[in-house]
Amino acid sequence: MAEGKAQSAGNIGHIAKGCNGALSQKERGATLARALGVDAFRLNFSHGTHEAHRQRVKRIRRAAGRHRRFVAVLADMQGPKIRIRGFSSPSVDLENDAPFCIDASIDEHSGDQTKVGTTWTRLCAQVSPGDRLLLGDGLIELDVTDTGPHRVDCRVVSGGTLNANAGINKRGGGLSAPALTEKDSGDIEFACSLPVDYVAVSFPRDAADMREARRLVHAFDASCGLVAKLERAEAVDSPDTMRELILASDAVMVARGDLGIEIGDAALVAVQKRLIGMARSLNRSVITATQMMQSMIENPRPTRAEVMDVANAVLDGTDAVMLSAETAIGRYPEETVRSMVEIIEGAERHSQFNVASPINPKCDAIDQAVARAATEVAANLGGVTAIACLTASGNTPRLMSRVASNPPIFAFADNPRTLARVALYRGVHPVLFDTRPISFDEINQSAIDWLKRHHVVKSGERVVLTKGDYHNVQGGTSTLRILPVT
Ligand code: PEP
Repeated sequence: MAEGKAQSAGNIGHIAKGCNGALSQKERGATLARALGVDAFRLNFSHGTHEAHRQRVKRIRRAAGRHRRFVAVLADMQGPKIRIRGFSSPSVDLENDAPFCIDASIDEHSGDQTKVGTTWTRLCAQVSPGDRLLLGDGLIELDVTDTGPHRVDCRVVSGGTLNANAGINKRGGGLSAPALTEKDSGDIEFACSLPVDYVAVSFPRDAADMREARRLVHAFDASCGLVAKLERAEAVDSPDTMRELILASDAVMVARGDLGIEIGDAALVAVQKRLIGMARSLNRSVITATQMMQSMIENPRPTRAEVMDVANAVLDGTDAVMLSAETAIGRYPEETVRSMVEIIEGAERHSQFNVASPINPKCDAIDQAVARAATEVAANLGGVTAIACLTASGNTPRLMSRVASNPPIFAFADNPRTLARVALYRGVHPVLFDTRPISFDEINQSAIDWLKRHHVVKSGERVVLTKGDYHNVQGGTSTLRILPVT
């Protein structure tokens, strides 16, 4: 994923765009270099070699540096995607009502129109007659009629072309493999060595999966954020599981592709809204993903329905919207990002988000109370055109952006890792700010001077500034000042 922040009229949105294998093509590099408004990039570890990912990260950092922008890099683990194996040809056509058998004992290329192998040897133990299996992004539907020691006998309900290695989902969930595979462990170690700013865990079932991922990530890089991709029915089937999963993560992704297949598209609408609201109220950030601008893989303009989908995610309160195939293999990556930025900005201009977001009224810590007070003052005291947040870890701007993103929040930090991480937060602009050569008394004025120099504020306006009593102390935010711009 890559994610961008659309910045205009003092307001900001985020977009995320996929940069899978195709990023190595020349034109993708050009897209990046033109800095269209992307705030984060997803490296999809389902595709490509470590060396190719290393080169991509280099290019992203180089292009971002050229444009003096901070962008987050997110390494998205493949996870335990359950798949069929292959056929003697690249694909087969399945007829409605025909029998079809998925059998773990069939090897890689021995599948045909009547049978195929699977990578998941426990499939037969996790389905029963009457279950519905969805193959290839849900395009092929099979009803389970019988099971045996290795095999699952099915009847084709909705046929079509079935490609080798297509994914298998079960309607209602329950195909349950541990979230972190051996490949993921190696990929996490590699991703942390690059380093990246976030690691995304695919198919977590519950908070325990995220805690295991946290242990692994922190063994290699303690400052790397963790994203839970919510794409299993069991991850969203109770408010308690959702809550625990969110709390065990730094951000969550509404991974609408696999999730929609498992719970059905109709149920997805409410789940998206619930997840976004819950993540915000639990002080976590949230990415809305998959098929947001799907038609732009082939066309230079989005459909009106896609425009509304992106805009509605912004109105729901998402931090980021993500592109996948549109920018990874699509014909119009630049146009897609540009359109998405326009839609985000349009939605933000009319957004009731600031008043509508669900807010947890309880404060647990001093920095949270200061962050809450800062957004309250900024929204209600006349003349405040920016919040300047001096931060070491990025936690205070995240807390602020859970409540409101208008006026814009400027995260002043001297650590590039912090600045890349906060790029994911809605309404937060990263600013490189080295306080070491500045005396403590002059820091406030230096921050205001930066905002003036960059035409964010002007004389006669006000800035709300937060900081701690000491330079660069994590969790130390304790002070709120309201400063006139002279
Ligand atoms: C999804 O299923 O929506 C998703 C983001 O997953 P993937 O990594 O397969 O794109």
